[in-house]
Amino acid sequence: MHRFFVDPQDIINQQVHFSQAESRHIERVMRLRSGDTVVVFDGSGWEYQVELLEKASSALVGQIISREYQDRESPFKLALVQGIAKGEKMDTIIQKAVEAGIDSIYPLLTERTVVQLAGQKSQQKQERWQTISRQACKQCRRNRVPFVSPPLEFASFLEQHQGQPILMLYESEQECTLRQVLKKDLLARQIQPWYLMVGPEGGFSEAEAAMARQKGAILVSLGPRILRTETAGLLAAGIILYEFGDLG
Ligand code: SAH
Repeated sequence: MHRFFVDPQDIINQQVHFSQAESRHIERVMRLRSGDTVVVFDGSGWEYQVELLEKASSALVGQIISREYQDRESPFKLALVQGIAKGEKMDTIIQKAVEAGIDSIYPLLTERTVVQLAGQKSQQKQERWQTISRQACKQCRRNRVPFVSPPLEFASFLEQHQGQPILMLYESEQECTLRQVLKKDLLARQIQPWYLMVGPEGGFSEAEAAMARQKGAILVSLGPRILRTETAGLLAAGIILYEFGDLG
């Protein structure tokens, strides 16, 4: 069954009002007509069976037949704190993180972030990434859309999240491994979300690693091979959500 997103405020009196973009998608791409049934989600956890009505304007309207609260969220909350990667790579990272079951995403401006995001550009990027998160939910059937934060400076993120569980993937870490953190309960599992920090293509600087450690983050290695940024976060998220969440 095809799934479409509708903003909660566009669900009025048992009817859903599709946006222009979704209307176009329903009609032109999916070739659906009045009388056809689709699934609608509004990002809050509710899922609706909706029958498309006869078209009265350029935007489509559907009648709600039934609704169900369908939670496909991981019982373990893991947030991805991602050093902003170049171009489409960041889009892919967000898409995959949502599929894997990440709870929320914090794009990070670090010393080695190449992308320049001042003022308006930063907001545009956030909106784009939030849309990618929503689109990934359409495909993977999540009914809650993971929040994508505005880009944050590395130091501000640490300030704002001091005292919360932060796990930094650090390619130069020699002692502590992700396995140790999980097996020895080095981070309290009851306090969630855990924030999983991943460096951009150029990695984290030594100064950033030192600052994170000083602010209470746990620095971990994923083993002897250096993984690309898009690989590292997804693999680590997979391991953590397999152990504590609902993957697998
Ligand atoms: N340019 C760096 C590598 C950066 S990899 C270099 O060549 O040394 C990008 C990010 O992925 C890193 O900052 C880290 O967060 C994560 N990462 C990659 N491989 C890792 C590993 N073996 N252990 C821990 N983190 C790793």
